[in-house]
Amino acid sequence: MKRLFVHVDGVVQGVGFRPFVYRLAREHGLTGWVKNTAQGVDLEVQGREAGLNAFIDSLRHKPPPLSQVKSLRRVDQDIRTGEKGFTVLESSPQGRTTVLISPDITICPDCLRELFDAGHRKHLYPFINCTNCGPRYSIIRALPYDRVHTSMAAFSMCPPCQAEYDDPGDRRFHAQPNGCARCGPRLGLVKNTQADPLPHTISLLKQGRIVAIKGIGGFHIACRADLTEPVKRLRANKRRRQKPFALMVPDLDHARRIARLTQQDITLLRHRAAPIVLVKKHPDCPLSPLIAPNLDTIGLMLPYTPLHHLLFRLGLPPGQAHFSALVMTSANRRGRPLIKEEQALLEAFGDECADILGHDRAIVNRIDDSVIAADSAGPFFIRRSRGFAPLPLALPQAGKATLCLGAEKTNTIAVTQGRHAFLSGYIGDVKTLETFDYMRETASTLQRLYAVDFTQVACDMHPRYETSRWAGSLGLPVLKVQHHHAHIASVLGEREYPGPVIGIAFDGTGYGTDATGWGGEILCADTRAFTREGFLSPLALPGGDRAVKEPYRIALACLHHLYGKQALAKDLPLFTTCEGPGLRVLMDMLEKGLHTVQATSAGRLFDAVSSLLGLCRVISYQGQAAMELEAAAHSARPPFRSYPFHLTGGTPFEINTWPMVAAIVEDVEAGRAIPAIAADFHRTLARMVTAACLRVRDTRAMDRVALSGGVLQNRLLRDLARQDLTEAGFTVWFNQVVPPGDGGIAYGQAVVAVCREARD
Ligand code: ZN
Ligand code: ZN
Ligand code: FE
Repeated sequence: MKRLFVHVDGVVQGVGFRPFVYRLAREHGLTGWVKNTAQGVDLEVQGREAGLNAFIDSLRHKPPPLSQVKSLRRVDQDIRTGEKGFTVLESSPQGRTTVLISPDITICPDCLRELFDAGHRKHLYPFINCTNCGPRYSIIRALPYDRVHTSMAAFSMCPPCQAEYDDPGDRRFHAQPNGCARCGPRLGLVKNTQADPLPHTISLLKQGRIVAIKGIGGFHIACRADLTEPVKRLRANKRRRQKPFALMVPDLDHARRIARLTQQDITLLRHRAAPIVLVKKHPDCPLSPLIAPNLDTIGLMLPYTPLHHLLFRLGLPPGQAHFSALVMTSANRRGRPLIKEEQALLEAFGDECADILGHDRAIVNRIDDSVIAADSAGPFFIRRSRGFAPLPLALPQAGKATLCLGAEKTNTIAVTQGRHAFLSGYIGDVKTLETFDYMRETASTLQRLYAVDFTQVACDMHPRYETSRWAGSLGLPVLKVQHHHAHIASVLGEREYPGPVIGIAFDGTGYGTDATGWGGEILCADTRAFTREGFLSPLALPGGDRAVKEPYRIALACLHHLYGKQALAKDLPLFTTCEGPGLRVLMDMLEKGLHTVQATSAGRLFDAVSSLLGLCRVISYQGQAAMELEAAAHSARPPFRSYPFHLTGGTPFEINTWPMVAAIVEDVEAGRAIPAIAADFHRTLARMVTAACLRVRDTRAMDRVALSGGVLQNRLLRDLARQDLTEAGFTVWFNQVVPPGDGGIAYGQAVVAVCREARD
């Protein structure tokens, strides 16, 4: 006989860990107890040595599917005589919180079966859940994860629900959001309060009306995706001219009619986080062309709450659905955060929505849908949010508790604690007051939940970012991390590799150490510092920020650089889509060098080329010109060839892109097919990256390359660069757990913050 005390930490609360321990102990004939603490799960087990060993082995190697065991500490104890059975004790919340919060999880197969089982007590109950599924982060106010600390505190369980909750052998043992039609949350329509919520919503949607629907982390605005009229109205209402809408499809069969799914896509669609997956549109896609204009991809997700399943399937036999696809777009005004309350939704979209399907379970922490795409080597995040945040990310080492504020657009923030970084879900563009407030709210939520006392704050070097200003006002030591260094550090952090590596940081623009705009950078970087080894030729941005929204300005500046005033005599599609007088004014501006800034930006080079090819003159969402250029390139047939370019200067060297741009202009004038030019442009960029890396390898003997920055969301460029670099003998790393875009900057700052501080 032996007795052991075991402490388990990781994601071990709200994921069925204690019932698992209970069953396991009984299976092996052990006595003892288990309980939740602020640091994880504690337990004691007593029995024969063989049983104890088998118990520990299962704990380590076969824990419940949603749990993540980070560590397991065991201490021998004295035998306790007369102990009978195994018990689950009340939580003890004392001490510093180190337990990890589970993200929100898609309905599990067992609950889904019960949802449509006419004989089950919870048949058609829109909030059915268990320890393997349901809301978590979105309903938590404080830790430990007990019902009183969630928005379920408002509901008291009826006797049958309480019995499930109390039975360690039940799948709903201590399932905090447990409830039923009698005792749990209920649906309600905000406008037509007399109607039966679900059937009424389904009928409104069928008629082509727009309805707001409360989900896990906020509201969606929904309408049929196969009709153009409601999608058009939705675009007008959301003031969203062309940005693609995400869709929810009832099942994989329906997804296959819309998209050409790879095995990888299917795995991602079925992921328990149910992210939006960017997939290839089917050539005969039966949906409204307004869903994702000018793009060859479409964002799909599967239903992830019982309510979603009911919307598609209520009253229908298996395999059938009311809708082939619904637009499910986050309910937020442009630049504002996701709406999570009925009243706010009514104020923002009340007139535009036929009705609002809400419920009385409050959303405590809002969380947007995650977005994932895959290239030929595997998946990567466009947005890491619902289903993933706030799971911890590893840091290369422990360091001071740091609040990391990220950049500005598509922002996220992070807090560090020991060797963990907790990266928030998607926050958005913090230039607007509302989103800025949401960022502050998120910072205090993470601080409260993880009981972190910040001793420093990390931010971008950009002096005019709202996040940099806020960092300066907090009264803490401020660590400024250069934008592109943070991008590369995010890759190093993920790999727990200290560096140095060759860093390829390609994005829109970030603030450089020389106070100019950077964004096509070749760095030599480790987790503490970097040097700038090379950059893409600087481009003129006439009108500064306006040039970002109006890429034709950059295209014109390129033409001016190459041909001077003669540029206007060129026969280019750019000039047929732009009105003459505007162009001449711009040309004057360029001649005199007025209101023009320079940036070494890869993103702006994409914009310029997209516009030179006549694809995108003015953008209505971030990244549009580049996405349309990539879409055009996807329809070209390999082999692709490289345009000319050369490397000039010492350190830093310039990757001179002008020979390429001139050749592209000639090709366009000669009437060469646009997709072929677009593809060759991608090919050339990959060759430029490889040439730059070879140059650095010559002097620095480094053969690891890390690529990051928003431009690396481009799958064609990723594939071509990976192929070229691998052939040249480099080890190639992209981001795997944080987005390559600015949603990964806060994590990169966290990596630099802990590494720099620890060694200085
Ligand atoms: Zn379940
Ligand atoms: Zn009940
Ligand atoms: Fe960036």
